[in-house]
Amino acid sequence: MLIVMKQDATPDEIAGVVEVIQTMGYEARPMPGRQRTTVGLVGNDGRVDASRVEALAGVAEVIHVSKPYKQVSREWKPEPTRVPLPDGSTIGGREVIIMAGPCSVEGEEQILLSARQVKAAGATVLRAGAFKPRSSPYAFQGLGQLGLELLAVARAETGLMIVTEAMDAKGLEMVVETADIVQIGARNMQNYSLLKEAGRQRKPVLLKRGLSATISELLLSAEYILSEGNPNVILCERGIRSFDTATRNLFDLSAIAVVHGLSHLPIIADPSHGTGHRDMVPAMARAAIAAGADGLIVEVHPNPERALSDGAQSLFPEQFERMMREVGAIAEVIGRSVVSPVGSAA
Ligand code: PEP
Ligand code: MN
Repeated sequence: MLIVMKQDATPDEIAGVVEVIQTMGYEARPMPGRQRTTVGLVGNDGRVDASRVEALAGVAEVIHVSKPYKQVSREWKPEPTRVPLPDGSTIGGREVIIMAGPCSVEGEEQILLSARQVKAAGATVLRAGAFKPRSSPYAFQGLGQLGLELLAVARAETGLMIVTEAMDAKGLEMVVETADIVQIGARNMQNYSLLKEAGRQRKPVLLKRGLSATISELLLSAEYILSEGNPNVILCERGIRSFDTATRNLFDLSAIAVVHGLSHLPIIADPSHGTGHRDMVPAMARAAIAAGADGLIVEVHPNPERALSDGAQSLFPEQFERMMREVGAIAEVIGRSVVSPVGSAA
């Protein structure tokens, strides 16, 4: 429920509304706006009787949020959220952010070369997992802490920001030390204790859609993070399970439009996991930008044939360069622009 205060409501009247909400057993979140303050009521799992607040001094109107997710909904906040990044850019505005790099950190030479290559092509965020959620326990599990240290080296050399995955609460503490954006992977989208921990720390969170999650479930997972106090969530469509094996997953392009309708949070696209085949990635990257994605996360490897994970869907650096030019052109057509690395001529 949202309590919209009158334009001339006094601080005492706002405090009065907060107090009543608290005595009703809920939490109150005052949100000062340009015109007027709105007080959000959280902690309810169903319709709340509005009669006690409706009559309070300074209250203009009470809006019932109809969706099960509250704080992530457009009803709660009509204007888009712009998630701030350390280089001064934001995700969710006019700018399109490109995150690129290998699936996993494999070693110093590999991650440094990857970082230089994706930066040269125009990416501003380096992706690579240090902790890898693999379907087989015998597959490469990532370099762990060493992987994080190598990512920090890559950032120091290139100035790229880092997005990397946290798989559990213990790993999250380590990841937060290094990452500029904390990734929560598809397999962990409904790991509610991890979501809560991610909501209690301050770094932006990249939340990937679960393998068979509905859009409503994705938004409810984001709600966990916001409800713990972290408003900086970036959603990610990375394909869902389907009956067809022609692609690794079914890349749900429509999710981008659906999420933009339902939520103020930004959403980016992962055409690499979405298709599973490098030759399909550029087409889906272009499509995602045309559909309004606020950014892309793409797997690129200096030598994909020798990659320790997800080589088949990793672009060759030259493919990525071409993809970046195409994506830049499409962004421009729809009145957006791809953010280029600081100090680059582009
Ligand atoms: C990844 O980004 O390498 C990854 C494991 O992605 P997802 O969680 O979407 O499968
Ligand atoms: Mn991968």
